[in-house]
Amino acid sequence: PLVLGIETSCDETGVGLVRGRTLLFDAIASSVEEHARFGGVVPEVASRAHLEAMVPTIERACREAGVRLADVDAVSVTAGPGLAGALLVGVASAKALALALGVPLYGVNHLAAHVAVDVVEHGPLPEPTLGLLVSGGHSNLLLVPDVTDDIRSLGATVDDAAGEAFDKVARVLGLPFPGGPHIDRVAREGDQVAIDFPRGLTSGRDLQRHRFDYSFSGLKTAVARWVQAREATGQPVPVADVAASFQEAVVDVLTRKAVLACAEHGVDDLLIGGGVAANSRLRALAQERCDAAGIRLRVPRPGLCTDNGAMVAALGAQMVMKGRPESRLDLPADSSQPVEQVRA
Ligand code: ATP
Ligand code: MG
Ligand code: FE
Repeated sequence: PLVLGIETSCDETGVGLVRGRTLLFDAIASSVEEHARFGGVVPEVASRAHLEAMVPTIERACREAGVRLADVDAVSVTAGPGLAGALLVGVASAKALALALGVPLYGVNHLAAHVAVDVVEHGPLPEPTLGLLVSGGHSNLLLVPDVTDDIRSLGATVDDAAGEAFDKVARVLGLPFPGGPHIDRVAREGDQVAIDFPRGLTSGRDLQRHRFDYSFSGLKTAVARWVQAREATGQPVPVADVAASFQEAVVDVLTRKAVLACAEHGVDDLLIGGGVAANSRLRALAQERCDAAGIRLRVPRPGLCTDNGAMVAALGAQMVMKGRPESRLDLPADSSQPVEQVRA
């Protein structure tokens, strides 16, 4: 089936075209530059930008993919979670398109789509797969028996998401928003063992009670305190060393618990998805630890880790191929859709 997928949960207007498991084209328009001066995404600005970008982005996706809208067999759209107003633009557009074309509509979960996108690169997902979902708003360990139907959360962050921690620490270091890619770049020049930052929920009772949970807010505070103390001495802040040591603390905990979850649930395949999965050190350390543990690792290419339309199209196409029920045309956008609810 040829599926057109629409993503508008945050500041990327994404339109992807997928045929079966083949990605034909992934068109993205982003309003990130309009938000940068505010240091975070401004919901009203994002919604308006989606409205303006939607039609041109659909047209560009079709043109570049060499398909006509009339060839599309189904439309899929992110129904949640995300910014309410931003989601509404995508959901309304998808309904209009599905109705006009006379094809089924699939409302899908954004987080499930971050996992499902990997099929366009590495083929069908083993069932079950263990998912490590790390993004701007989420950090979850997921048991994924079937990405179109059955996702179970084994644990999640108890405070900040991993991407949020990257963005906040970047701000402390005077790096632009969104900070993740900048920390990744700057850290390459730094020493990851220069500063021993805390690893949350990794020992003693904390680990017992939060075996597959994460915590990054204590780490963020520790970095801010360290930088303040350094500034108070009048010496320059070693930005690269702080970035590398912070990044190491995050990816150490992420990969350690992911490998532990694979072992305890008897799963041999780990998939990392979400914007933070673009991080070069996370990818390298995960590969190292998976190799050591005999786990097969799958990570989509960086451009498919951050928000895009291809992931929504990829999940929609798998729903069609698995014969999952289509969504109703009065499908609501759900800003807090839980990860377990794969279809809307
Ligand atoms: P969610 O998926 O939870 O709704 P989101 O859609 O806003 O959140 P994504 O686009 O999936 O988030 O990811 C964005 C996050 O990924 C940002 O916090 C950004 O800093 C982070 N990120 C992107 N690239 C990198 C990188 N190379 N290293 C670390 N973090 C990164
Ligand atoms: Mg974004
Ligand atoms: Fe996302």
